[in-house]
Amino acid sequence: MVSTLTQSQSLVEQAKAQGLRFFLVSYTDLLGGTRAKLVPAAKIASVEAEGAFFSSFASNLGLGPDAPEIAVIPDPASLIVLPWEPTVGWVASDVYFDGEPFPAAPRIILNRVLDRCADQGYTYKAGIEAEFFLLKQTPGGYEIADDKDTAERPCYDQLNLMRQFDLISTVVGYMEDLGWEPYQCDHEDANGQFELNWSYSDARTACDRHVFFKYMVKTLAEQRGYVATFMPKPFSHLTGNGGHAHLSLWQGGTNVFADGADEGGLSPLGYHFLGGVLAHAKGLTALCNPTINSYRRLGASATASGSTWTPRYVSYGGNNRSHMLRIPEAGRFECRLIDGSANFYLALAGILAAGLDGIEKETDPGQRIDENMFSRGAEFPDLDTIPTNLAEALACLEQDALLTDTLGELGKKTFFEFKHKEWDAFNAQITSWEMAQYVNI
Ligand code: ADP
Ligand code: MG
Ligand code: MG
Ligand code: MG
Ligand code: MG
Repeated sequence: MVSTLTQSQSLVEQAKAQGLRFFLVSYTDLLGGTRAKLVPAAKIASVEAEGAFFSSFASNLGLGPDAPEIAVIPDPASLIVLPWEPTVGWVASDVYFDGEPFPAAPRIILNRVLDRCADQGYTYKAGIEAEFFLLKQTPGGYEIADDKDTAERPCYDQLNLMRQFDLISTVVGYMEDLGWEPYQCDHEDANGQFELNWSYSDARTACDRHVFFKYMVKTLAEQRGYVATFMPKPFSHLTGNGGHAHLSLWQGGTNVFADGADEGGLSPLGYHFLGGVLAHAKGLTALCNPTINSYRRLGASATASGSTWTPRYVSYGGNNRSHMLRIPEAGRFECRLIDGSANFYLALAGILAAGLDGIEKETDPGQRIDENMFSRGAEFPDLDTIPTNLAEALACLEQDALLTDTLGELGKKTFFEFKHKEWDAFNAQITSWEMAQYVNI
């Protein structure tokens, strides 16, 4: 049910008013994982004041086993009552350490850039598209859940969509109750792939909702014997899971990216922001595409449907889905780089930092390109290309002082430690492809 309570009400008051028995005090770690403690409502007062305590090393934020606990303090404004278990309230939380906001926690990193944005008089708004696959787990691995969903070009397929009506209509009903204003659902470009859209909001709320959306879809899928995955590229021959973000800056009720007189519908400020994002695109890639698997989606050359839908070049266009940045309509642009493995607190923090830098420097994004970049991109040799693997993306991020400053000293150190370890672990694998290819060499 939608809470009619105001944001200023404490969790203690909300527990009473809504009959909550538990709170799921949740935060997102540096690898994008969701971690939580379940706190009985009778004990939420002290957690609200001082935090729930988590062992530092296990918290995936870069602290050692010798460090004292982190304190995870719930943000009452983010409360979402679980629609399928209405005695439990989920709350996004901020990590504290030693009495201070912990500088390497992703939500704190976003908060820091949002504060700078607010100081400049702007509100940052975002809409996230979270594509996912419905799979079933079999002894041989993961398969598309619906055996009948086999068409080569399944995008918008009506029968395949409606076979999942039970799950989709349940999620949409819940989003309606929560006040998210869901507006469209479709079968996406890969077999077993779906997208359910809801309306944009301020960026922190969009990130919190994205975390909750994944949890909700995974839970409801499990209840039906499925596995929902948001991983960027579960099947090499099928289109991957994007996590496109649509972005705009506002002053009060005015969208300052909008300019009706411009052909693309963007204001000079909007173009400068977009220019800043292009200027930092190569460094942003590690934040928008943070896993080994991300580069299976970005680097793919073809899929069964005929298109990968993923950008290769640092470029922008109008309502043109072959670019990294697309201006679908007046007053916003879409970042199509981001995939389903992104930690949106970090990705949207990086994009905002780059965009604000573009505004400050009045960065010129250059001419928009009105071509199909999938087929004609090579005709633009002056364009930068997007990194093609995690190691290259990390090297680009390391060279981008604006973005590493955004992560902060500790955030940067820890992010690189985690990600280099992931890259090394991946490279230590001998794959079945290599065996088949090289065993007789
Ligand atoms: P598409 O598939 O064309 O890329 P979708 O309809 O799937 O687009 O998603 C568009 C997202 O953009 C939605 O979350 C929508 O609410 C959001 N959006 C619309 N206008 C704005 C805006 N001004 N600022 C930020 N997000 C916006
Ligand atoms: Mg213990
Ligand atoms: Mg969409
Ligand atoms: Mg889509
Ligand atoms: Mg999109």
